[in-house]
Formats: sequence, structure tokens, C-alpha cells
Amino acid sequence: MKIRIPKVINNCVWCWACVSISPDVFEMNMDWLSQVIENKSYEDKNVDDAIKICPVNAIKWTEMEIWAKDDSKCIKNPKVNNNCIWCWACVSISPDVFFFNENWLSEALILDSYEWKNIDDCIAACPVSAISWE
Ligand code: SF4
Ligand code: SF4
Repeated sequence: MKIRIPKVINNCVWCWACVSISPDVFEMNMDWLSQVIENKSYEDKNVDDAIKICPVNAIKWTEMEIWAKDDSKCIKNPKVNNNCIWCWACVSISPDVFFFNENWLSEALILDSYEWKNIDDCIAACPVSAISWE
């Protein structure tokens, strides 16, 4: 299942327009950049208005594949193979999912959902292609 998710890219100039127009979706983070708040859906939350009003075009729609246990079509978990070279990339990007086991290999927790866990970013960051969806 795919859902549309807004994303803020790094050229945010901290004007607060998106936060004002769509406070359920946007907030300012510690670096004074707008960031997206986790929501089950972003429809009917003025995201298109925030995109239009942003003075630097910092907000885009993206699509994310949702791998949820209750979605019978796509029950998948991230798996790490023995090629892991202990670089810490996945553990840094997604510490709720990846940890080092007693053999100093990264391992992924089995969760009901990997929504918002940045697994695809971990797969892309792994220098030895040790992570995959299975
Ligand atoms: S409208 Fe654009 S520039 Fe202004 S806070 Fe939001 S993302 Fe940043
Ligand atoms: S990113 Fe890859 S090599 Fe690095 S710790 Fe994770 S699985 Fe291991």
C-alpha cells in the first residue's frame, strides 16, 4: 500500500508559513527547520496550501510504501545478512529497528509496522548491501 507523505527539503527559511497553515502536519525542529509530524494520513490537512505558500518550494509530496502486518499483500521485514561490516549506518539511521547482536552484526527487530522507520534509507546507506526486505 502506498501513501502520500509531504517532505521538507533543506532549504527551509524558517518562515513558519507551513506551520501556520497546516499545524497538524508541520512543526519546527531543534535546528529551526520545518519538519513533518507523523500522521496516518496527510489528506485534507492543507498540505497543498502549504506547498503553494512556501516561499522557497521546500515542501514536496513523496510516496511511501507501507509494509504493515495487517496488509496481507505485503508482509515484509528487513533482514541483515552476514556481510554486515559493523559500520553503524543502519543503527544510526533507524535505532528503533537495528541493533548489534552478540556477534557484532546488525540485526533488525520484528515489528508490526516499519512505517516511519526509514528502512529504505538504511538499505541505501548500507555499504555492503547487507539489508533487504524479505
Ligand atoms: S513554508 Fe517553507 S520556508 Fe516556510 S517554514 Fe515551511 S518549509 Fe520552511
Ligand atoms: S549499514 Fe550495513 S554494514 Fe553497516 S551496520 Fe548496517 S547492515 Fe552492517
